Amino acid sequence: MGVLLSHHHSESKIATTYGIPVQSHSRGHSYGSYSLGGKDSAFVIDLSKMNTIIVNQTTWRATIGGKTCLKGVTEGLYNQGKCTIAQEMCPQVGIGRQATVGGQGPLSRMYGLTLDHIMEMKVILTDGTITKVNKEMNLDLFFV
Ligand SMILES: Cc1cc2nc3c(=O)[nH]c(=O)nc-3n(C[C@H](O)[C@H](O)[C@H](O)COP(=O)(O)OP(=O)(O)OC[C@H]3O[C@@H](n4cnc5c(N)ncnc54)[C@H](O)[C@@H]3O)c2cc1C
Repeated sequence: MGVLLSHHHSESKIATTYGIPVQSHSRGHSYGSYSLGGKDSAFVIDLSKMNTIIVNQTTWRATIGGKTCLKGVTEGLYNQGKCTIAQEMCPQVGIGRQATVGGQGPLSRMYGLTLDHIMEMKVILTDGTITKVNKEMNLDLFFV
C-alpha cells in the first residue's frame, strides 16, 4: 500500500523558511488536537482533497490518499479488490496517522498494525522536496 501524504510542498517550504511549525490535518480525531499544531501560529495543511483509493488489480497494491477515512479504506479495498488491512475500527479516523505511527484493530493479532502493510509513501521533506520512501529508497525515512 502506498500513502500519499500531501501535495502542499510549496506551502511547506515557505512555512519552514520562516520558521513556522507545519502540521498536516487529516480527519482531526487526534486526542491532543495535534493536527492543529498544538500551539498558536502553527501552519496547518488541510489534506481534504487527498481522499482517493485505487487498487491495482495486477500488483494488488493500493494507493491511498492521506486523508482517506477508514470507512473509505475498508470500502475501497473491498469493492476494488475484496481485500483488507489491519486498522482500527473508528470509521471517521484518517489513514495518514494510522499509516505512519500505528493503527491497531481487530485484525492486529494476526496481521499487525496498519503501518506493517505500508510498502511505499510519497512524502514532503522540510525543504519542500517531494520524494518516495520505501525499503530501497530513503530507508532512513521509512521506519520498518
Ligand atoms: C473514537 C476514537 C477511537 C480510536 N480508536 C483507535 C484504535 O482502536 N486503534 C488505534 O490505533 N487508534 C485509535 N484511535 C486513535 C486515532 O487513530 C488517532 O487519534 C488518529 O491520530 C486520528 O486520525 P485523524 O486522521 O483523524 O487525526 P488528525 O488529528 O487529523 O492527525 C493526527 C496526527 O497525525 C498527523 N497526520 C495526519 N495525517 C497525516 C499525513 N497524511 N501525513 C503526516 N502526518 C499526518 C497530524 O499532523 C497529527 O499530528 C482512536 C481515536 C478516536 C477519536
